[in-house]
Amino acid sequence: MPETGKMLVKPVAMTWKQHSGLSAEIRAKVSPPENRWTQWLGETPKVCVEKANEINSGTKKRLGCETPELSTLEVFYDDAPSSWLFCFCGSGMEGGFTEQRLIDDFGRLPVVMRQHIRHLMGFPIENRPPSATAWALPTADIILWGLDFDLMLHEAAHILDNKHKFSSAGSFRKALENDACLPSPYASQKINVTAEVWAETFTVRRYQVEIVEKGKNPESTIDLSCMSQQLDVIRNDTDDILAADHKPEYCVRKDIDGDGAECCDNPHLVEGKWNCDTINSNPSLEQLSSMEPFITFYDPVIENDGADDKRS
Ligand SMILES: [Zn+2]
Repeated sequence: MPETGKMLVKPVAMTWKQHSGLSAEIRAKVSPPENRWTQWLGETPKVCVEKANEINSGTKKRLGCETPELSTLEVFYDDAPSSWLFCFCGSGMEGGFTEQRLIDDFGRLPVVMRQHIRHLMGFPIENRPPSATAWALPTADIILWGLDFDLMLHEAAHILDNKHKFSSAGSFRKALENDACLPSPYASQKINVTAEVWAETFTVRRYQVEIVEKGKNPESTIDLSCMSQQLDVIRNDTDDILAADHKPEYCVRKDIDGDGAECCDNPHLVEGKWNCDTINSNPSLEQLSSMEPFITFYDPVIENDGADDKRS
C-alpha cells in the first residue's frame, strides 16, 4: 500500500552527539593565536547596552543584565592588527566561564571569519529567551547564552553566510536536493531554512579542513558520502577565503561613538576617540551587504538523542 500524506524526510549523516563532537574536537585540537585583552571601564558598545537591557516578551526578563553589570573587553589577537570588543554580564555566564576561555574559543575561528563578526555578547543562561540559546544578529553580532564553542561556530557560520549569501545560491540548493542525507538532526528539523542546513554542514566542512586534512585524527571514520555535494559546494565557497591571513578589506566594525567607529580597519583609540583614518573598504563587499537585509537567526533548544544539549 503506497504511503500517502507523509513528508519525505532525508536521513541524517550523524547523530547530534557525533555532530557536536566534531566542533568539540576542533576546539580541542586547534590552538588559538596568542592574545591579550584590556578591560574597558565606563564604555561599552551601544548594541551591547541595547540587547543586555532588552526585556524579552516571553520571559519578561532582561536578555542580559543592567548596564553597570556589563563588562567590556577589548581583545587583540596576534594574527590581526584590528581588535574586537566583547561584552558580557559579569562573569556569570555559566559554570566554568572565564574571560580567557571566551577569548581563546573565539580565536579558534579562522581570522577572516572573526573579521566578519562585530561584537560577541555573553549573557547568563538563565536569561535566555524561550527556545533560544544563541542569536546571530543582522548587525553581525553574536549573542551566546552560555559558553559553547559548537554554538559559537554555528552562529559565526550564519554571519559569514549572511554576508556572502552562500546558502541561498543555486549551487547549494541543488546539492541539497541531490544529496541523500543531511548533516545533523538540527538540520533535519530546520530543513526549510536552508541557512540552517548550510551552517550545520559548514561545521562538518571545518572538521574536514582543521582535523581530517591536517592529519589530526587518522582514525576518523564518519562516512560523509551521502552529503558530499553539500560539502563540495561549501569547500569551493569558503576554503580559500578562510585559509587566508588577516584581510585589510574586511573591516571589524565597532558600535561605539567616535570618529569613524562604524568601520575601523586598524583602530586606535586616540584621546578617547577612534582614529580610523586608514579605512580600506572593498566596495564590492559593501554593495553585497546592502543588496538585501540580513536575517536574524534564532537557534532554539530542540529535542535531541538524549545527550545534554542546549541546541540540537
Ligand atoms: Zn542557526
